[in-house]
Amino acid sequence: MELMFFERVFGAVVAFAAGACVGSYLNVCIYRWPLGMSTGNPKRSICFACETPIRWQDNLPIVSWLALGGKCRSCGAPFSIRYSLVELLTALLFTHLFWTFGLVWALGVYLLWTAMQIVGSFIDMDHTILPDRITLGGTVLFPVLVIALDLSGRSEGLVVPGWPEALFGAAFASAFIYLIRFAGTLAFGREAMGLGDVKLMAMNGALLGWWRSFFVIMGLAPLLALATVLVLRLLSRFKIERFTEVPFGPFLCLGSYLALFWADEMVEWWLALPPGFTTRFEAPWRWFGW
Ligand SMILES: [Zn+2]
Repeated sequence: MELMFFERVFGAVVAFAAGACVGSYLNVCIYRWPLGMSTGNPKRSICFACETPIRWQDNLPIVSWLALGGKCRSCGAPFSIRYSLVELLTALLFTHLFWTFGLVWALGVYLLWTAMQIVGSFIDMDHTILPDRITLGGTVLFPVLVIALDLSGRSEGLVVPGWPEALFGAAFASAFIYLIRFAGTLAFGREAMGLGDVKLMAMNGALLGWWRSFFVIMGLAPLLALATVLVLRLLSRFKIERFTEVPFGPFLCLGSYLALFWADEMVEWWLALPPGFTTRFEAPWRWFGW
């Protein structure tokens, strides 16, 4: 559906506000899931220092943190800026997704996927674990959603709109990263990557297709990880003994998000291919006339 400019601007504002609220819920998931706590109980967040329940007007995403100067109203203990940053990140990504896709079914798929990538990334950073309810959940959910949208003629906007390409993408991405993991374990003599990364790429492969997944695993994610480690070393904030101790999940998530939008342009520019050439990569079985 083609939206007018004012509709797009209005929609972007709504997407930003909705993203901030969703981000606030994602913070709860990021904190509570690894501790085995439910996200609904206790209902209210408390101050970690004085255990006072936080009033709803002090718990608004981003706004309250700014209004209170990042401090608890009762005891003055500092609240971490990270909660607001997760809210801001979610708000910005939701706005970007809406601005790119407009009001199509694919938008819903990508909003859900992005929220799951954020939760997975932050839990992986905190605990070096990618929770199964994200990765296994997504591995079941996203192929099913793509099949449903494709078969009902609602796959407009999906980067990989065909269900055979989506299923092939999920199978290829998980098999390929599993092979890398196997080779890495042989080379380093210890587990090079978690199984969580394999399950994450099964989930992401269904939306990225096979070659964008390949590009993420072999190109974007290692480059992003390397760049981050170098920057952190230069800032000497962070002592890393071995490169394998860095959780790889956040870089796979970030790389996947970037690849979803820009892998085609990047690869076409890099290999000097004509625009639109990468669509021929999607279904390799067609190269053989199947
Ligand atoms: Zn307090």
